[in-house]
Amino acid sequence: KDTINQICSGQVILDLSTAVKEVIENSLDAKATSIEIQFNNYGLDSITIIDNGIGINPDDYESIALPHYTSKLQEFNQLEQLSTYGFRGEALSSICASSNLVIISCTKEQEPMGVKLEYDYQGNLVKKESVARKQGTTIYMKNFFELFPVRQKTFKKNIRREYAKCLSILQGYALVCTDVKIVCSNKPPKGSRDICFSTQCNKLMKDNISNIFGSKVTKLLTEIDFSFNINSGITIKGFISQPTNSCGRNSNDRQYYFINQRPCDLQKISKCINEVYRMFNMHQYPIVVVNIEVKSDEYDINVTPNKRTILIHNEEELVTQLREELIKFCEPYRN
Ligand code: ADP
Ligand code: MG
Repeated sequence: KDTINQICSGQVILDLSTAVKEVIENSLDAKATSIEIQFNNYGLDSITIIDNGIGINPDDYESIALPHYTSKLQEFNQLEQLSTYGFRGEALSSICASSNLVIISCTKEQEPMGVKLEYDYQGNLVKKESVARKQGTTIYMKNFFELFPVRQKTFKKNIRREYAKCLSILQGYALVCTDVKIVCSNKPPKGSRDICFSTQCNKLMKDNISNIFGSKVTKLLTEIDFSFNINSGITIKGFISQPTNSCGRNSNDRQYYFINQRPCDLQKISKCINEVYRMFNMHQYPIVVVNIEVKSDEYDINVTPNKRTILIHNEEELVTQLREELIKFCEPYRN
């Protein structure tokens, strides 16, 4: 009981998709070019993430899973021009509070022997041994919500939905990250491991789309490249299905938005796109994979803890102009 109180006071309990999002961001921050995400029993038993990034600095072993520890932010004013995904130092500590965390890591200097690290629920390092490992990091999380029986029960009940959400989050990174091979698989309790999706270190986002949605769907997408004279200039580039295409969806489940390559939720922009499409095709939502380039001091990221909600300065104006551009784009397909 005491332990639980201590945990709750200092650490956030994550849901599965947030845990997964945080670990893939850490792998990308570590400059990995190959990332493998392995679910066991849809995440109910465990999730393993294996990367070939720079590895964890031995000086950080003791502290990485403690609340608020980050190796990525030296001074507060760096927040403005941050290029890494992480900077709050809360992910590993929250993962510890929600599951059993084991890490295997190795830096270039340590090769061929790395280290296996085990942490307790409070993020204290409790075991350390050497193991063979090439450069990179493996994060192993199991027994989610063991300390929280009620939470665990709902988690088990909703596992398929949680798992679907994890895949969708991971696909966002796999779509936008070029020059990284991302492979995601699941092993059901009975049967062998299935690949859910996999990209191939592509140079172009279009090839990522093709790896994930298939080449047939990709052929039905049109490239868009819009520029807006808002703030110091905003561009929206990427791929979208035409209103008459048969690849439209019954829901917005294939819409991926990025700001400066960071996956995020952009409700107003998504709503605008869906409304324009409804004018041309009442039944379908388009497939959307677009990156929005905005100068870094012209949007705010950190309004929610999961950093997915982003507020662009003068977003209303952007939505108005985007609507006009989209109508022009769709007009030729009107029948
Ligand atoms: P943040 O990403 O905000 O720094 P996290 O709790 O996500 O905080 O991670 C804590 C620290 O653990 C990171 O700053 C980094 O030093 C280290 N780390 C975590 N995952 C990896 C990884 N896959 N490769 C290398 N270092 C990692
Ligand atoms: Mg992080």
